[in-house]
Amino acid sequence: MKRPMPDSFRRTKIIFTLGPATESEEMLEKLLRAGADVVRLNMAHASHDWTRAVIRRIRAVSARVGRDVAVMMDIKGPEIRTGDLAAPIELKPGEIFDFTVKPGAAREISEEVRSVDVNYQGLVNDVHVGDTVLVDNGLLRLEVLEKHDAHIRCRVLIPGQLSSRRHINLPGVKVNLPAFTAKDRADATVGLEAGIDFLALSFVREAADIEILRAFLAEKKSKCRIIAKIEDQSAIDNLDEIIQATDALMVARGDLGIECPFEELPVIQHRAVRACIAQGRPVIVATHMLESMITQPVPTRAELTDVANAVYEQADCVMLSGETTVGRYPLECVQMLDKVARRIEREDAAGLDEPAVFTGERMKVLHSAVVLANQLPRSRLLAFTRHGFVAQGLAALRPVHSPVLAFTPSPEVFRQLRLLRAVVPFLMPFASEPNATIENAIGVLRREGAVATGDKLVVATDVVAQDRIVDSVQLRTVW
Ligand code: PEP
Repeated sequence: MKRPMPDSFRRTKIIFTLGPATESEEMLEKLLRAGADVVRLNMAHASHDWTRAVIRRIRAVSARVGRDVAVMMDIKGPEIRTGDLAAPIELKPGEIFDFTVKPGAAREISEEVRSVDVNYQGLVNDVHVGDTVLVDNGLLRLEVLEKHDAHIRCRVLIPGQLSSRRHINLPGVKVNLPAFTAKDRADATVGLEAGIDFLALSFVREAADIEILRAFLAEKKSKCRIIAKIEDQSAIDNLDEIIQATDALMVARGDLGIECPFEELPVIQHRAVRACIAQGRPVIVATHMLESMITQPVPTRAELTDVANAVYEQADCVMLSGETTVGRYPLECVQMLDKVARRIEREDAAGLDEPAVFTGERMKVLHSAVVLANQLPRSRLLAFTRHGFVAQGLAALRPVHSPVLAFTPSPEVFRQLRLLRAVVPFLMPFASEPNATIENAIGVLRREGAVATGDKLVVATDVVAQDRIVDSVQLRTVW
């Protein structure tokens, strides 16, 4: 597939979640051709056999289409769920209801009070009387009245239907579940064996959670990158240290909107995006971007404006969940994100109001490359990157006009570059001599129609000087 000319390329990357609506080869092919960059697998709903099969399918379709997308595995982290129910229960306003932490304890506790099991024994220790228990994405709200050894007794504040295995949120409660559970370890092991590119960890609460996952990846000798999902108040309190520790951040608005006051959500998103840009970490804005398109072929005006806002904020990626797992219009959703992002990016050519300033020596060199490219509106930024860091640094500086044309010899890094705003990745072996690598890359760009004679190139690469590797910035003209 011929690459789009950089002038018409989209800076903001698109992630979609795979599910029944999109797992067929035909639909995958359509979504890749429509410009999807990363495919997300949500392990809250996936078996290991399904995971292995779909990763093989994604790789096969990528090869056929000529667009090597990245695969992100999203592991559940410390999640609390209700157990199985024989039939859904209709909770009434004011009803007294029990959450039991020892399976089968319900009958011994009370004949009159209805109850459901919960998959977490520590619940009775973690909550306090007066705390709020939210069930099923906050649709049901209860207040804790009493704590006992085997159950907590609550009053229903917002009634509704309770069915099996619903997600429980405890706003403001420090949950003592491990950050990386046995299920996460088993899921991640399957993912790494199948060659995933990103591991997204749910409910990251502090930097130490990331370090646990990093140690696991080191043990597996994996180069997979970590995405920290921020979903509750602890993550917001520790945002800066989490951004420092992680490779990328996801603003997981589904759970954030339950765990934090609604009106805080836009503020949290805005601050998280800015903090990531300032620290040079890619950032994803996720969930409910085109929610009404699960059932309708067009979005609401408010959803359009939400997508536009994420692009104005200069997030690296926007992400689809239910829209592409169970929605009726998954292709239209990807096309809609593509169209809106391109339009807003044309509008927003002025760059950041306050561009990030980095302290490290290497980042200072990259900063000079971006300053140069910004002063030459027709120029192209070229990055040569073995581990992805040069491309990530240039992308973090949010160049105003030019895409970052990033060359790497590593297939893994090539796919991981898909996450970065404004980066167009190229897979190419590096020659032993840096100048030959640059000449080869210019040849590739000419053949792709991405540069033409007379174009200025700002090249960020390393050169060998007296046996030492030195970062360099060069200004060249395409011959
Ligand atoms: C979210 O809560 O927004 C999110 C992306 O996480 P999950 O889909 O795992 O609930």
